Amino acid sequence: MSGKDVRKGRTTRGSLGSGVGGETLGGFIGFANLPNQVHRKSVKKGFEFTLMVVGESGLGKSTLINSLFLTDLYPDRELPDAEAKIKQTVSMEASTVEIEERGVRLRLTVVDTPGFGDAINSSKCYDPILEYIDAQFERYLHDESGLNRRNISDNRVHCCFYFISPYGHGLKPLDIEFMKSLHNRVNIVPVIAKSDTLTKQEVNRLKKRVLDEIAKHNIKIYQLPDVEDDEEEDYKEQTRVLKQSIPFAVVGSTTTIEVKGRKVRGRMYPWGVVELENDEHCDYLKLRTMLISHMQDLQEVTHDLHYENYRATRLDPENVVEPVKPGKQASGNTDAKLREKEAELARMQAMLAQMQKQLQMQNDGQQTHQL
Ligand code: GDP
Repeated sequence: MSGKDVRKGRTTRGSLGSGVGGETLGGFIGFANLPNQVHRKSVKKGFEFTLMVVGESGLGKSTLINSLFLTDLYPDRELPDAEAKIKQTVSMEASTVEIEERGVRLRLTVVDTPGFGDAINSSKCYDPILEYIDAQFERYLHDESGLNRRNISDNRVHCCFYFISPYGHGLKPLDIEFMKSLHNRVNIVPVIAKSDTLTKQEVNRLKKRVLDEIAKHNIKIYQLPDVEDDEEEDYKEQTRVLKQSIPFAVVGSTTTIEVKGRKVRGRMYPWGVVELENDEHCDYLKLRTMLISHMQDLQEVTHDLHYENYRATRLDPENVVEPVKPGKQASGNTDAKLREKEAELARMQAMLAQMQKQLQMQNDGQQTHQL
């Protein structure tokens, strides 16, 4: 840990004015409000955000993601049968969608981790997930030290929805182990999956249990920033409600159903309809509001805390990451590194030449002006 307290002085944002009170966003996702959060330059460039979903297969990860972003990210995906599931290893699926709302572009990458926890020997099944997160940090570190620092694309994982099974009595040992490996790398937002399978009382009991276990095992989950005194009352209330709702009990569905003349997204049962965008039924809207109103904060914490930790560890001379293997492999590595250095030198030379040319042109222009 770098020990840097990024919790203080984080940017606060205006209220989205929707979501928590049960209002719908009328088909909009709501990120058009991002200009309130980000610098104009980022708005022009587009906003990059990566969300990762983890948890056992079948907990409704893909369904929730599709519900949240209205786009079918996985139209061709086939559900594996039981036998295939056992053999299945963790494979990462990153899908990127570009969504534009009222002139604001969001480049959203969703990283799904199907198969996690399916196989009986699953204790190390999450290693590829950790490797994926680290690989994005490594790529950023590499790009940051390169020449084209202004146009780095940020693929770091800014938020991780951790799906908790509604069928257990809290966190499973694997959840605890996995969350502890994740919490210094990424902002964890715990969610209780398929909460429509539980009664209100059961949801509350499970929420309390999960929070107790998180505290008991010193698991660090994403903390919503404290609101400033001078914030609007609506925003203060929104933040209070959001904080109280963690872990968010969610329901996912991409089906639209007609209820008393209203079209709603939900799940139809013989005894009634569970509506996604109804705060009495689940925390779907709260989760969406939390994500959208805190995108910039999630990015800041990723950069200032998680990435900084990675960078500090990585650049520490005691942590030699790639020990050079003897023999052929070593010379292969050295060759590759030499080629990389040569390419970088060539890029630098080209850039220098370009700069000289521009300076020359500027000088020529000035001289003409003086004449
Ligand atoms: P994933 O493997 O975690 O991505 O799970 P999927 O999204 O593929 O969903 C697995 C199954 O659970 C599908 O049959 C979904 O229709 C169903 N499902 C998804 N979300 C929910 C939910 O919130 N409640 C209930 N009861 N079922 C759901």
